[in-house]
Amino acid sequence: MIDGHTQLVGLIGWPVEHTLSPTMHNAAFDALGLNYRYLPLPVEPGRVEAAMRGLPALGFRGANVTVPHKQAVMPHLEEITDSAQAIGAVNTIVVQDGRLVGHNTDGHGFLATLRKPGFKPAGKRALVLGAGGAARAVVYALAQANCTVAIHNRTVQRAAKLAHDMQDMDLCAPVTWTPINTQITDLNLDQFDLLVNTTPVGMWPHTDNAPWPKNLSFPSHWIVFDLVYNPPETRLLRHARELGARTIGGLGMLVRQGARAFEMWTGEKAPVEIMRSTCEQTLKDKI
Ligand code: NAP
Repeated sequence: MIDGHTQLVGLIGWPVEHTLSPTMHNAAFDALGLNYRYLPLPVEPGRVEAAMRGLPALGFRGANVTVPHKQAVMPHLEEITDSAQAIGAVNTIVVQDGRLVGHNTDGHGFLATLRKPGFKPAGKRALVLGAGGAARAVVYALAQANCTVAIHNRTVQRAAKLAHDMQDMDLCAPVTWTPINTQITDLNLDQFDLLVNTTPVGMWPHTDNAPWPKNLSFPSHWIVFDLVYNPPETRLLRHARELGARTIGGLGMLVRQGARAFEMWTGEKAPVEIMRSTCEQTLKDKI
C-alpha cells in the first residue's frame, strides 16, 4: 500500500519503458515487507540537472541511472565514490542527509556473477569485446581483481582511450587494446581464459547476430560472459556452449548490480533469488 510513509526510489533514463528494474525492485520490497516503491522516471536529455535537484526536494531515497544519463548526472552530485569516478559513470544515487552520492554497482554485479560458479579472476587473462559504458565497469572490475585485460572494439580509438584511462590508475593488472585492423581471427585465443561481450550485439530483437565470427571456435577452457540478458541465451552463448565452453548470461549481473543498490537504499540484505526469478518470469512473459 502506498501511504504517507512510502519511501521512493526510481530509474532515471530516456527512455525507460523497457526496463526490468521497477518489477525487480518492487518484488524485492514486497518480499521484505518494506514500504518502498520504485518508479520509472523518464528524464529528457537537457533536464538532468533539474531531475537531480528534484530527488532530495521530493524526498527520494535514491535512484538508478541508465542510458543516456550515466555520465550526465555526475556534475550534479555532491559526492562520487572512487570506483564510479574511475569508471566514469554513475548508475546508482543515494540521497544522504539531502546530499546526492553517486556510486557504480555494475562492476560489483559483474564480478559477483563471474565468481559465482567458482571462477577466480586473479592471474587470468580476459578478452573484452566493446569499449562503451558497460565495458568501462567490466574492465575496471577485472583489472582491480588482478585479471589482465585486452579490449577489442569496432572503434579502436575508443578502446585505446579506455585502456589509457585505466593505465593512468593504480590498478592491479595491465589493460591493453587490440590495434587497428586486428580481427578476432588474428588473435591467439589460447592466451585468454575469459571472453566478455559488452556490446549490444545479439540483443532482442536482433537475436541472430553475434559479436563473434560464425566459424571461429572457442577454446573449451574458456568462460564466455555475455552482458546481454534478453534473450537469456544469446547466439554467442549458444555457440560457446555447443563448443564446450562455460557460459554466463547478463541477467545475474543485472540482478546483482540491482541488489547492491537495494542494500544501499534500504540497509537490508537484498532477496537476490526473488529478484532473479521475477526478472526471469518478466522476460518469459515478454517473449
Ligand atoms: P554503449 O556505451 O553504447 O557501448 C556499446 C559498445 O558496443 C561500444 O563499444 C560499441 O562500439 C559496441 N557496439 C555497438 N554496436 C556494435 C556492433 N553492431 N558491432 C560491434 N560493436 C558494436 O553501451 P553500454 O551501456 O556499454 O551497453 C552495452 C550492452 O551491455 C547493452 O546491451 C546493455 O544492455 C548491456 N548491459 C548489461 C548490463 C547487465 O547488468 N547485464 C549492465 C550494463 C549494460 P563503438 O565504440 O565502435 O561504437
